[in-house]
Amino acid sequence: MNESEVRQNKITKEWVIYAPARRKRPWDFQKPEQERAQPPPPHDANCPFCPGNDHMLESITMEIKDENDNGLWGARLVPNKYPALTPSDGINRYTKGIYLAMKGFGYHDVVLETPYHNRQIGQMSVQEVERIVDVYHKRYRELMEEKANMMIIIFRNYGRRAGTSLIHPHSQIISTSMVPVYIRWREEMALRYFDEWGRCVYCEILEYEMKDGRRIIYENDHFVAFVPFAAEVPFEILIMPKIHKANFGKTSDNEKSDLALALKSILERLRKKLNDPDYNYIINTSVRYRAEEPQLHWHLLIRPRLTTMAGFEIGSGININPSIPEDDAEFLKND
Ligand SMILES: [Zn+2]
Ligand SMILES: [Zn+2]
Repeated sequence: MNESEVRQNKITKEWVIYAPARRKRPWDFQKPEQERAQPPPPHDANCPFCPGNDHMLESITMEIKDENDNGLWGARLVPNKYPALTPSDGINRYTKGIYLAMKGFGYHDVVLETPYHNRQIGQMSVQEVERIVDVYHKRYRELMEEKANMMIIIFRNYGRRAGTSLIHPHSQIISTSMVPVYIRWREEMALRYFDEWGRCVYCEILEYEMKDGRRIIYENDHFVAFVPFAAEVPFEILIMPKIHKANFGKTSDNEKSDLALALKSILERLRKKLNDPDYNYIINTSVRYRAEEPQLHWHLLIRPRLTTMAGFEIGSGININPSIPEDDAEFLKND
């Protein structure tokens, strides 16, 4: 790519600018050696999530055993000590002058991914990652039982630039009683595509990407990982199930194992190739009442935090990506 190109996200219709003049090569995004943090110890006596500190937790909602029975638990779910939302408040809307408001209803959980303070997903065994996926899945289904939970977001913030300073490996699950416009917009665009073309836009992209191959990084029986054609940031990755399903809660046991495998493989590569970058990942799944829809297709989105949003991005909503998706995929493809 020698000239500037503006690409459209086929799902959301958002535009992304690729400017060769501002271009960086994949290795330019590697974290410099001096910025790499000291590896943390396997156990921290002051960490509330480390074994031996259960008294620092308010409660334990769920626990998955370690089948190897070494005396430690495998994965856990605990309530967030500083929740963004709490389930005790109702979902009724009220006005304040001309403005609309409501109580902050919702659940805010923390998934403790391992008892080891320093073991990140890329370094875990597949069995360990399966436990994490299992907690996501079980909790997702549980929260879905409650009608007021309209949207459930499962996400992981890794590193300071991704919004966390807590070292102990963890992810979070938040449910809300409202569906934000951003999600409605994405759903609406998928619906329009379905009404026009009679098929799921995600399935269409999946099929095309697998045939084209240039942006594919990884594949197993049930999942494909690729850099989207209009990736918003360098090394953005989608991990998408090959079988069409709107709802993450409908994931089968075989799919869960393959998701664990895909996640481990991708995060291991990011860690190795880019020197442990900060990132967020999010499971995008259908909101309540859309769980059976033929136009929605759940997936996991990874956004490494290698660039900073500046004025143009904030003002226009258009990202300038200094990297090229095909180059990023090539760089991550090979072990
Ligand atoms: Zn810890
Ligand atoms: Zn689909």
